[in-house]
Amino acid sequence: MVREVVLLGATGSIGTQTLDVVSRHRDRFRVKALSAGGSRVDLLAEQVREFSPEFVALPTAAAADALRAALGTDRPSIRVGPEASTELAGLDCDVVLNAITGAAGLRPTLETLARGTTLALANKESLVIGGRLVTSAAAPGQLVAVDSEHSAFAQALRAGRAEEVRRLILTASGGPFRGRTVDQLRDVTVDQALAHPNWSMGRVITINSSTLVNKGLELLEAHLLYDVALEDITVVVHPQSVVHSMVEYVDGSTIAQCSPPDMRLPIGLALAWPERLPDVAAPCSWAERTSWTFEPLDDETFPAVSLARTAGAAAGTAPAVYNAANEAAVDAFCEHRIGFLDITATVRRVLEEHLAAGADVPSEAGAAWVADAQLSIEAVLAADSWGRRRAEALTRKDP
Ligand code: NAD
Ligand code: MG
Repeated sequence: MVREVVLLGATGSIGTQTLDVVSRHRDRFRVKALSAGGSRVDLLAEQVREFSPEFVALPTAAAADALRAALGTDRPSIRVGPEASTELAGLDCDVVLNAITGAAGLRPTLETLARGTTLALANKESLVIGGRLVTSAAAPGQLVAVDSEHSAFAQALRAGRAEEVRRLILTASGGPFRGRTVDQLRDVTVDQALAHPNWSMGRVITINSSTLVNKGLELLEAHLLYDVALEDITVVVHPQSVVHSMVEYVDGSTIAQCSPPDMRLPIGLALAWPERLPDVAAPCSWAERTSWTFEPLDDETFPAVSLARTAGAAAGTAPAVYNAANEAAVDAFCEHRIGFLDITATVRRVLEEHLAAGADVPSEAGAAWVADAQLSIEAVLAADSWGRRRAEALTRKDP
């Protein structure tokens, strides 16, 4: 059976690798629709010519005009506007792969789940900020992880029953600044933060890997996807990025998933889930001497994971604020308005303010924390936009 795929965020790192997997398995997948943010219209035009989707979505009329001009035909049908990706997520298809970056992925995620379509999720931010709103909208098996660590968990969880799981071991490469002290991080540059040792990814996730905010988001992602308590998820640094994560069972056995770093493997598995496609990526090589090392995370130098634990323990709108403050702080760092250490310092300050603001005290919309029991999409979006504004003000040195 050919699976019809709607791909959101087609021109990004995950989007292009998804199309690479599809192109080598044309007998299994057909691209029904593509969406993109509009910054690489030429690439999108090339993708349209190669995969002939019925629908394309772009956020602005200018981007749509540029695509139309590049294509020189009336096909495919182009949907335009801020909700155009959400519209594509609602199409009748077998799987939606959400590879949009950041909080903008939330509505497409919820729309896919509401339609009953399988969601292959790269956009971890939508799960983390939507929290229980997203997990409660998902039927068993409907949400399939694309993130390599979470794909590793899904694979290792096949080795036992849910009640036999003792803990999850989430591996982290440690990023480009592993082993440094706080003093050695003060003056690192944007280019240094963008030089990830093992993975080539989009800008935001690459910076997030250098601050370990990506691991904080992944901690919350694992907690929500597999319903394991935050204190039963251990983060361990594994610089080679070959062991993608592990599950420890009650008898003392640990099951790991290993492969050289290549996102096409978890992408292929998510598209074909629960089946495996042949020869998606190179396996581990045993012909030369190799070592895989593990070390504890330095929480004092890289506080992003412990801040995520605080946000996750509070739940409700706290994870949305953690993510929003980070997205704004990453922009400020890339625009040279703040230093590297200010990214997590800003996240901490904004999160603390959010958790301290009582819901009964009238204040700016989204400023006050809302608990899981009262959570709504409006509350999440208000917290997201407050967190962004507050972080933005702090990085512009407003009080
Ligand atoms: P990227 O920046 O390379 O690509 C993002 C894509 O989303 C682009 O096509 C962009 O045009 C599109 N986009 C942005 N805003 C949009 C909007 N409002 N509407 C429609 N499209 C929009 O990012 P990436 O590295 O591919 O990451 C995508 C997601 O996958 C992120 O959530 C990231 O955390 C996650 N992820 C990425 C990797 C990786 O290896 N790159 C690994 C695991 C998880
Ligand atoms: Mg990951």
